[in-house]
Amino acid sequence: MAPPPLANVPLFSAEAAAFGLDLGQVLHEVLDSQRYILGPQVQAFERAFAAYVGVAHAVGVANGTDALELALRALGVGPGQRVVTVANAGFYGSTAVRAVGATPLYVDVDEATLTLSPAALRQVLATQAVGAVIVTHLYGQLADMAAIAALCQQAGVALIEDCAQAHGARRDGRCAGAWGEIGCFSFYPTKNLGALGDGGALVTDDAALAERLRSLRQYGWRAKYEVVLPDGCNSRLDELQAAVLGAKLPRLDAANAERRAIAVRYQRAFADLPLRLPASTGEDHVMHLYVVRTARRAALRAHLAAAGVATDIHYPIADHLQPLLVAEAEPPALPASEAACAEVLTLPCFPGLRDEQVQRVIDAVRGFHEGGA
Ligand SMILES: *Cc1c(COP(=O)(O)O)cnc(C)c1O
Repeated sequence: MAPPPLANVPLFSAEAAAFGLDLGQVLHEVLDSQRYILGPQVQAFERAFAAYVGVAHAVGVANGTDALELALRALGVGPGQRVVTVANAGFYGSTAVRAVGATPLYVDVDEATLTLSPAALRQVLATQAVGAVIVTHLYGQLADMAAIAALCQQAGVALIEDCAQAHGARRDGRCAGAWGEIGCFSFYPTKNLGALGDGGALVTDDAALAERLRSLRQYGWRAKYEVVLPDGCNSRLDELQAAVLGAKLPRLDAANAERRAIAVRYQRAFADLPLRLPASTGEDHVMHLYVVRTARRAALRAHLAAAGVATDIHYPIADHLQPLLVAEAEPPALPASEAACAEVLTLPCFPGLRDEQVQRVIDAVRGFHEGGA
């Protein structure tokens, strides 16, 4: 009898995202509590998450893009100001910058890590007035934060970290989110720490900033029905989502280690192939996405699809080349960001991916290169 066909290898599994927990029970507890908005679950998760990141305060919000927008508002960034951001990170930062009426100032990325280039940032800060800097820890790779934080401090510019792909990434014991004035997280279901829907948080050591953020996320209130801040909104983290996140948080480091172990297998298996591999598999990379670079992306992608291996491109269009922006102004030249957008390919890498599935990805990638395709 022929062996059963192997199941296809997906890019993500919702089942694995439960981290082996009975989330039904967690949801039932919230249902029974009859508290659904900004209650004890949110408070408990905010405390636990702040402690995990190693900062004094966490503020739960509705999603990661709102977190970036509220960070800019809390720092007083608005119309007429420019905000440094990268162009290879999916337009989330750009969305937030534009939402507050400011203008993205795109700075190129480091070729090896695909995160904000300190050399390029130095040049921009020396010649232009900037309202804030957003650094994105792309794919789970912590950016060169020692250099970037020092440059921002010298220039007197606030530093916002986009940690939406980097929950738990660390260097010298310091977590993503604990380097800048504010760290922004998304808990979208596929993120390293994901909810069962939308969710987000901001982290900061600054008590005054945390208080502004708590006010801004709820209509600009100081107390119920008492409005003190302009530009408040409704961006709250639900009790249901906070309970799920609180249950999952103790297992985050183990899940990240699982991602990293898969990445290490890929790095070994692909070392001799003409692929550009992630720069790190250390603690400073939590492998939200395992991304290789190849000049033959379309052909490799088609080969993998035929072999039942799901892939994706994060991200195919650089922010500054989005139709919306090209229609508004002449785009700047960002060679490293543009090259990355043309070459990046994401392979399956998530906790719960089985050994034989990892092997199937390896065989398919090697088969493409060895088959003389
Ligand atoms: C997912 C993501 C966001 C946005 O998060 P949402 O919760 O979907 O709004 C922001 N930045 C990066 C880098 C992301 O990957």
